[in-house]
Parts: sequence; structure tokens; C-alpha cells
Amino acid sequence: MTEFKEIAHSGGKITFSITTDIEGNRSYQIGIRTSRPVPMAMIAVYALPQGVPVGSINMGGIGTPWNPPPFPGCYPVMIQSDSEGKFGHNCPSCDGYWRSGPWPNFCPYCAFRAEGYQFLSKAQLRFVRHYCDVLTQANEGDDGDVVIDMDAVADAVDQEREKPAFYVSEQSQQCKYNCAACEEFNDILGRFGYCSLCGTRNDLADFEVVTVPSIRERLKAGAVPQDCVRDAVASYDSFVAQYAKQFATLVPLTDARVNRLTRQRFHDLTDARTIFKNWFDIDLCAGMQNAECRDVELMFHRRHVYEHNGGEVDQKYLDDSGDTTVKLKQAIRESQETAHALLGSLIKMAKNLHKGFHVLFPPVEAPIHAFEEKKKL
Ligand SMILES: [Zn+2]
Ligand SMILES: [Zn+2]
Repeated sequence: MTEFKEIAHSGGKITFSITTDIEGNRSYQIGIRTSRPVPMAMIAVYALPQGVPVGSINMGGIGTPWNPPPFPGCYPVMIQSDSEGKFGHNCPSCDGYWRSGPWPNFCPYCAFRAEGYQFLSKAQLRFVRHYCDVLTQANEGDDGDVVIDMDAVADAVDQEREKPAFYVSEQSQQCKYNCAACEEFNDILGRFGYCSLCGTRNDLADFEVVTVPSIRERLKAGAVPQDCVRDAVASYDSFVAQYAKQFATLVPLTDARVNRLTRQRFHDLTDARTIFKNWFDIDLCAGMQNAECRDVELMFHRRHVYEHNGGEVDQKYLDDSGDTTVKLKQAIRESQETAHALLGSLIKMAKNLHKGFHVLFPPVEAPIHAFEEKKKL
């Protein structure tokens, strides 16, 4: 997995063929030829002749007419993908950069929602301006062909010499994944974010598919169960903190509540349950029996002993947990079974939080539905 690597444009040649009919009316045709053995996808936007994108073009299939431009006099601008068949995007709200398919609905970082054409990357915006300038000049010149050489742009990657003025390339980010809900490819900075197509957060899939199985593997391989319990609770705490941070950003809250959500931990189950239930109507332990909730609560208190006291019971543990089966200074241990059971409970709680979050911030259903239908085939 390469991070922050420059990804070349998919290349090709864009030709504007300008003609004048016998009545003196000028018109142009756009032709695109590509010859590189790389994945290439193409989208189109309407842009003002000054080079400002103002609408997405739904190119549909052959024979399907395009949607009309939002204003008369717009140029249709064809935009090709990078050489991996993906598109770079910039968020107009937070300026975050990522790569994904052609038409995102959300910024993965700040959840800003907009039309696909509003998320063009800075490199694409430069290209749109160049494209419009060339087309305007071609329209004012003689009949014939005017070419934008994107092969020269693609070739300029990794080369020292001066790049073309309308140079376009994208950059790989850190976490490349396909959304568990809609299958969209996302390549984002960091590890966690919203799917740029459907808006589903990827934290749950990461927790269920990566974090918990890796701890289970360690247990099976003979790792100390106390260490695994400590790490499991820490991972769960980080998971909750991601959603808490989103709530703190997206929901109007008092400073005290923002501080609670962003600066403190979620190890105290009773406290965490109260917060999410009272502030956001989310029951972290929905569908769990009381006995299971008590087990989780006890394990969270035990984490403190493993984390801070080398496994020896301290007074804080006795006071907080009310555990009367052990005495001060006694060393406590976990079994593989209690550690596995805890991991199972943590997944249930993670799912409850994720589900409750997306009740308040609903994803776009269409791509999720399409993926469900595809899975049935
Ligand atoms: Zn953003
Ligand atoms: Zn998605």
C-alpha cells in the first residue's frame, strides 16, 4: 500500500474540431482518443466559458440525451480519471482531499453534502479552466482541429522537466477501502471517515472486520487474555470517540457537552450509556441482557487494573466495580472465554452506536440498495 504517491492522469488526446457552415454558423465537435493500457473513466461537467463548473452532466448510455445545461452558453467539459480509473476530489467546505469514484455526495472528513461537480479536485479545476480557454480560442480561430495533449500530461509524472501548464495528477492517500454498505472505493487521509458516495461511516466495518478479529487471533495464538481485554476496551473507546467527535461537530451542543464528548473517555459504561441515551436517544446496550451489560461494565473496571496497576486490585477498582469476589492487592486474570465474550459484546455495542448515529445522519439509500441487489445475483 503506497501512501501519498503521485498518480498520473489516464492520458489521451482531446480534439476540438471547429467547422463553419455555409451560413457562417460555427460549431465544434469534441473527440477523445485514449491509447494507454490503464483503467480510464470519464465524466463531464457544464462550465461557464470562464472555466467555472456549474453542473454535472449525466451522460447516460448511448442514445440517452444529456441533461440540459443550467445556463445557456455553457461548455461541456470532459474530465478523465487518473490512471487507476479514480477521481481526486476536494471538499469546498473543509478543503480535505480524497480519491473515489466520479460523483461523490459527501466529504469523507466533514460530511459536507453537495453535488458531484462541486467536489472536483484542484487539479481538475485547473484543467477545466484550460479546456475552456482552448475551446474559446479555437472558436475564435480558423476552422480545423485543436488538440489538448493529455498524453504529455500523463508522461510528465515523475519527470524533472517543466510540467505542462494544465498539468493534472492525483495523489494516493492512506486508507483505501470499499464501503461495506455500497461498495464504493474510497482513498482517504487517515483511517476513518464517511463513504463519499453513501455517507456511511467506515469505523464499524473496521472494528468488526479488522480490530476484533485481530484480537481474537492473538487470543487463539496464546496471548495473555488480560492484555487482550485491555486492548479490546481501548479499541472500543477509540471507536466511540470517533462518533462522539462527529456528534460534537455536527450537532449544536453546549461547550460542556462538547468537552465531555471530545476530551474524556467512554470506559465508564453507566456514564457512557446515560450520555448517548439522554443526548441522542441511542441505547449502547440495546438488545443485550442485564447480565451481559454487567459483565461488560465489570470488564471495563478491570481494564483499569490491567492498564494502570499491573493486574493487582487497587482500592479504586474495589470502589468503582463493587466487586466483592476479590481483595485488595490480589492479582486478577482473565480467561480466553471472558475475553472472547467481551469482544462479542463490544461488537453489539459498536453496532448500536453506528446504527443510532446513522438514524440521525441518514446515508443516501440508492447506492446501498443497488449494492444489496447486486449481492443477491
Ligand atoms: Zn469536508
Ligand atoms: Zn458507501
